[in-house]
Amino acid sequence: MTRKDRTEGIYSRLEVLDASERNQFYRIQLKDMLKYAYRYSEEVKKRFDRAQFDVNKFRDLSDIKHIPILKKKELIFLQSMGPRLGGLLTKDLGKMNRVFLSPGPIFDPEDRIPDYWGWTEGFYASGFRSGDVVQNCFNYHFNPAGLMFEDPLRNLECAVIPAGPGNTNTQLEIMQKLRITGYVGTASYLMHLGQKAEEAGLNLRKDLFLEVAFVTAEKVPEKVRNTLEKKYDLIMRQGYGTADVGCIGYECYHRNGLHMANRSFIEICHPDTGIPLKDGEVGEVVVTAFNKTYPLIRLATGDLSFIERSPCPCGRTSPRLGGIIGRVDTTARIKGLFVYPHQIEQVIARFDEIKRWQLEVTNPGGIDEATLYVEVSNFRRKEDLMHTFREKIKIRPDLQILEPGTMPPQIRPIEDKRSWD
Ligand SMILES: [Zn+2]
Repeated sequence: MTRKDRTEGIYSRLEVLDASERNQFYRIQLKDMLKYAYRYSEEVKKRFDRAQFDVNKFRDLSDIKHIPILKKKELIFLQSMGPRLGGLLTKDLGKMNRVFLSPGPIFDPEDRIPDYWGWTEGFYASGFRSGDVVQNCFNYHFNPAGLMFEDPLRNLECAVIPAGPGNTNTQLEIMQKLRITGYVGTASYLMHLGQKAEEAGLNLRKDLFLEVAFVTAEKVPEKVRNTLEKKYDLIMRQGYGTADVGCIGYECYHRNGLHMANRSFIEICHPDTGIPLKDGEVGEVVVTAFNKTYPLIRLATGDLSFIERSPCPCGRTSPRLGGIIGRVDTTARIKGLFVYPHQIEQVIARFDEIKRWQLEVTNPGGIDEATLYVEVSNFRRKEDLMHTFREKIKIRPDLQILEPGTMPPQIRPIEDKRSWD
């Protein structure tokens, strides 16, 4: 059986708009959505009025910064404030197709609209093609993931085995008997399936037929991806989204960041002020999907990323998120400066001999102090480390050298021990 070409092609014209067409598209979509939301969502009207944001004066994309950020945490409270999920919905709950449940609890309504969660272009970019037989190992109960990922597969004319997670032996049996070509699930479950298959004496390349995998919901180290791609002989691409808004971004064959989905306007903002940052600067992903049913305007995801606009060899012109590099809540502001774990990791990576590290922040007498703990034996490059740290991170921590194996197995990269009494 010959393999399909999964490396080329573009699903939608929106993926190849030039910069000015794209701006125009965003502007029209946003204006239309904001006007609609102001008119039909009680909660949006309240928010805009409180912020004295006049939707009729929305002219330019940069005007969106006058709308306050919506924190994900607020949703739990807002949704409990009465009918239509606290006035967030622009129509009655009974008009929805489904309502899912996320931790919080947060309800995730789904309207009766084709490709409501917007994953189809991302699945195409990942390499799914018409005629694939796909095992969907995401959960179908309460959680939106399982059914959310059926839509794009139906749109691309693939057949779906609604497997859900678990029942590993049955999963493997189906994969063999039905010659499953596509996998949708987490990378760690695909890894688990592979281990179980190998234990049972199967050859992942010969006894299974997987050619393409879409994974999401967890951070996948490149090493793990490479291992899985090689073991199964498949293409594995990642998507990024949330249960509230659906697809936010996806990788293409060239896997150099997450192309922004064309169904939303994405900003990278300062985590405290909500002010949009420049391209390349790290900040919080803030998303406004063009969704008139459930208008979550400027929803702050809590994820950290940056915007990359260099051309991509795939031909898609949509800007990219340079990967999800952390969470806002693992970030600490030390002496007024944001310090991100990935920045420290980049510094430490230059010192191969350091096994593990942790930055501890305290505030004796109300003044921030940072201590960098490193596990390393016979460390000879203290000066070098401190110099690089100061240069890249702009703070000057105390250095504490520990023997390898001293720190507990589970540690936070930045341990904030400050007290605010
Ligand atoms: Zn690309």
